[in-house]
Formats: sequence, structure tokens, C-alpha cells
Amino acid sequence: MGTAALVLGAGMVGTCTALHLQSKGYNVTLVDRREPGQETSHGNAGLIQRESVEPYAFPRDLGHLFSAALRLGADVHWHPQGLWQMARPLWRYYRHSHPAAHARAAQAYSRLIAHALDEHAPLITATQSNDLVTRDGFRFVFRTQRALDEGLQRARRLQADFGVRHRAESPAELAQAEPALRQPLAGAIHWLDPWAVSDPGTLVARYAQLFVARGGRIVQGDATTLQARGPAWSVHTPHEGQLEAPIAVLALGPWSAAVVQRLGYRMPLFIKRGYHQHYQGGATLRQPVLDAERGYVLAPMRRGLRLTTGAEFAPIGAPPTPVQVAKAERLARELLDLGQALPEAPWLGARPCAADILPVMGPAPRHPGLWFNFGHGHQGFTLGPVAGRLLAELIHSERPWVDPQPYSPARFV
Ligand SMILES: Cc1cc2nc3c(=O)[nH]c(=O)nc-3n(C[C@H](O)[C@H](O)[C@H](O)COP(=O)(O)OP(=O)(O)OC[C@H]3O[C@@H](n4cnc5c(N)ncnc54)[C@H](O)[C@@H]3O)c2cc1C
Repeated sequence: MGTAALVLGAGMVGTCTALHLQSKGYNVTLVDRREPGQETSHGNAGLIQRESVEPYAFPRDLGHLFSAALRLGADVHWHPQGLWQMARPLWRYYRHSHPAAHARAAQAYSRLIAHALDEHAPLITATQSNDLVTRDGFRFVFRTQRALDEGLQRARRLQADFGVRHRAESPAELAQAEPALRQPLAGAIHWLDPWAVSDPGTLVARYAQLFVARGGRIVQGDATTLQARGPAWSVHTPHEGQLEAPIAVLALGPWSAAVVQRLGYRMPLFIKRGYHQHYQGGATLRQPVLDAERGYVLAPMRRGLRLTTGAEFAPIGAPPTPVQVAKAERLARELLDLGQALPEAPWLGARPCAADILPVMGPAPRHPGLWFNFGHGHQGFTLGPVAGRLLAELIHSERPWVDPQPYSPARFV
């Protein structure tokens, strides 16, 4: 039997961490209060975003800031309490979004994103999940020529700097590719490399089943009960009592901040909440589409067309305020026949973010045996397998295939 390890949190990040540790011979127990893949990793837009080499920056131009401050657009919403609670990390996020700092972050971020497809591929094969995955990229569609020109300029830069492939599409080419979209539109950027998953939560659940089939254990339990007991880490579970292991990994996505704070770390973590709603009975899309000037995504999913919203700055437990869904729905109806919303409340989740726009992956600075793997922001679904591999290599004292230094938790201490 290998060394015991507890992985707390069975989203995309925790599940992939468990799989990678298991592949190195660890005796891994994956602990979650729910079934695997039921939270943020379920509710996202399902994109494995090979194109997203630049992490999402805080908007800095006055037009965007003005619109966000007045909550005019569909892309940003905020609760006063959320801004107040997150003021310090948000201020740092704003500073790290300065073009020079952002370019440095992109260098590190792109090195992770570069491996996203290669790391998902064997898991998709091993779980026979090709039925959930299309490999035809996705589109940014533009309403105005000026925005399209700016988008294309950026796409050419990403191609030159990071090898991200795209194709510019005229309105006629776009109409042929996505006949459901109403014209006139100025055109589109078709990112050629990303993959789209039609049921993100099920993909995580299948990765978790693979972990069990290979001998892993999934146990229901509450990660907030985590405590050090001598050289071991211990967590309480209702059905199996105290579980103990010399190694514990915190992969609690947007809930990581509270546990980390309880352990005495002051890290600039914050969340961006987001909603989704499904629509049926209207037109459908062949691939996901970002309405680039309005800030929401439409993704064809098993349950219908999934509309996902931008960022809402609000406390994680605050009641839902799905005004962005209503705004985005109105905008989406301009683009296509959306059909009817399924009769259920919009889903609400939260992107786990760190102020310097990079994930937090590595050893807990002051707690031997404890490891962090969270803060993957807008791309945690994309990055789960990469994050899992990187952390498992660090825990196993191997030299990781990606330089881990930029993501080290020690950068905040
Ligand atoms: C609207 C929206 C759209 C998005 N679209 C995309 C996209 O297209 N592509 C992409 O790559 N990313 C996307 N993201 C981001 C992505 O979904 C997240 O970064 C990712 O899911 C985070 O994964 P995770 O495993 O860290 O967290 P989670 O999936 O949230 O997993 C954390 C787990 O911890 C468990 N947990 C929490 N607290 C406890 C506790 N006390 N005890 C036990 N267990 C606990 C939870 O039950 C959960 O299973 C989107 C996010 C949103 C909100």
C-alpha cells in the first residue's frame, strides 16, 4: 500500500489531483460533501480553452470601468457588500492587470494552458467520453467592425506569441458555419484549437469513476473539519469517522479561501460569481459562441443551449441576483431564436480567483504535508488535469514538467 493522501474537493481540480497521485502509487481518498463534479465544475461553459493563454484581466479602459461601475452591461454585476468584502484583493487584481504585469502573468499562465488538451486527452479516452466532447473550437462573434478588428489584432498576436490558431470569418462564412445566428454581424474569430464539452459535470463524474475503478476511494465529508494531528492530517466524515493521512490537498475551488484563512494564511483570494440557464425549443448552435462585445457565452449542451454569464462580485453565500441572466437573455435573443428557458432557477456558481491572476498550486508554506491546488479562475475546467499532474509531481518530489515557481503559495507569505 502506498502513502495515504487525502484530497479535499472533488471538482475538476481535486479529481484530477487524486487521479495523478494515484498513478504515482499513493493510496488516495477523495473527500467531498457532495458527489464529484456537482459544483463549479458542473455549471461552467464546458470549454477546454486552449486559446485562453492570457488570464482574464480586470478591465482598465474608462468605458468598461464606467459601465461596470454603473452595472450597465451584462458582463459585470456587483453587490456593495461583495465589493467591500473583496476590496483588497480586487485592488491588487486591478494592479496586476496593468499591461506589463499582465504580460508577465500570461507568460506563466500560457505554459499551463499549452498542456490542457494533452492532459485531458488520455482521461477522455480512458473514460470513453468522446460522446461528450467536440473538437471544432469555438467562436467570438462581433457586432461591430471596430471590435472585430481589435479582436483580430489580438488573435494575430496570440498566434505569433503563443501558437494559438484562429481563423477570421466574414459574415458570409459565419452564416455558413452557424446558420442559426441572425445577421448582420461584423464577423467572427474562430478559435480552432479548443474543445467543447456538452456536460461538464458528467465528465468530472466519469474521471472520478475512473479513479474508483483504479482503486481510489470517494468518501463524503466536511473539509472544514481538517486539522493537524501530530504529523498527520485528519478530517471528519459522517460514515467513516476520522480519516488520517500524512498528505492532504486542499482543492475546494471557491470555498478554499475560508479554510486557508482558518489555517492562518492571508491570501488575496476572491470570487467571481456566474450563472447559467438552459434553453430549449429554439435554434441551436454547432459550437459555443461568445458574444464578444456583450460578455456572455452560449454553449450547446445535452440539456439545451446553456447561457453562461460574466462576473458578479458578491459574497459566496449571498442570495442569487440573476440580473445578468435576464440581460444576457435579451441580448442572446437578438442573435438567435433562443426558445424557452427551462422552468428552473438559474444555476449559480463562483470562479475561484487569486489577485495576481495565477492559480495557487504547491506546498502550504507553514504546514508540512498540506498542499494547495485552487484559484484557477476562469479556466479551472480547462486546467484541472494540468493542475493535478503538477501537484502530484511536486508531492512526489519529482521535477515537474512545468516550472511550478510562479504558482507557489509562498508568493503570498
Ligand atoms: C459561469 C461560469 C462559466 C465557466 N466556464 C468555464 C469554461 O468554459 N472553461 C473553463 O475552463 N472554466 C470555466 N469556468 C471556471 C471553472 O468552472 C472553475 O475554475 C472550475 O470548475 C474550478 O474547479 P475546482 O475543482 O477548483 O472547484 P469546484 O468544481 O467548485 O470543486 C470544489 C469542490 O469542493 C467541494 N467542497 C467545497 N467545500 C467543501 C467542504 N467544506 N467539504 C467538502 N467538500 C467541499 C465542493 O462540493 C466541490 O465539489 C467557469 C465558471 C463559471 C462560474
